[in-house]
Amino acid sequence: MPATLTDDLNLIYDALFAAFGHQHWWPAKTPFETMVGAILTQNVSWKNAAQAIRNLEDAGMLDPHLLAAAEAADIARLIVPSRYYNQKAERVRGFARVYVAEFGADPETMASVETGELRERLLALRGFGKETTDTILLYVCKKPVFVVDAYTRRIFSRYGLLPEGASYDQTQRLFAGNLAPDAELFNDYHAQIVRLGNTTCRRTPVCDRCPIREVRGKIRCAVGRG
Ligand code: SF4
Repeated sequence: MPATLTDDLNLIYDALFAAFGHQHWWPAKTPFETMVGAILTQNVSWKNAAQAIRNLEDAGMLDPHLLAAAEAADIARLIVPSRYYNQKAERVRGFARVYVAEFGADPETMASVETGELRERLLALRGFGKETTDTILLYVCKKPVFVVDAYTRRIFSRYGLLPEGASYDQTQRLFAGNLAPDAELFNDYHAQIVRLGNTTCRRTPVCDRCPIREVRGKIRCAVGRG
């Protein structure tokens, strides 16, 4: 029987897992920290976002009620490492206000909302794109929603499973349409992709060290083929 996309995606995940181990995402102590982190990491490295989160924590401000009531300028001063700090301060405060007012600052209340409805609500917030929204749906609300980022598009188009320049939705459909809707799997699969993108499938790929260049003699990356 010919291999299916489902087989390929599962083989790739298994090879990544074997190489890197479980990634235990998201790197945060609380659901609220995950949500703030999803906003602060927009367009910057995780290192920058993590420093901004540490600043909020050290100032005792990593709290939805405090952030909802804070002056945007006070938040901005603390999150300078996240670069677009004025814009992100507004986004963090705007989200904190909705989180408090509509979900009682309770992640379980938020998670109890139907996935499509919650996705629409979050996408309607200022500065919330699909990646930020889906990160919250998956890593906070445990919804089986596949998170797509630049690494996902780069790796899977190089691999030959996506056309170059694939859209967010097209990339998400590759996974959602071919894998069982499993939040645990989606959680770690995305984390593995980020690990591969950071270490091996960089802008200039290091194919000879790539754990998915060839998987069990069954599939090979189109670029890494050499
Ligand atoms: S073989 Fe090279 S191009 Fe292909 S996924 Fe690995 S690092 Fe990226």
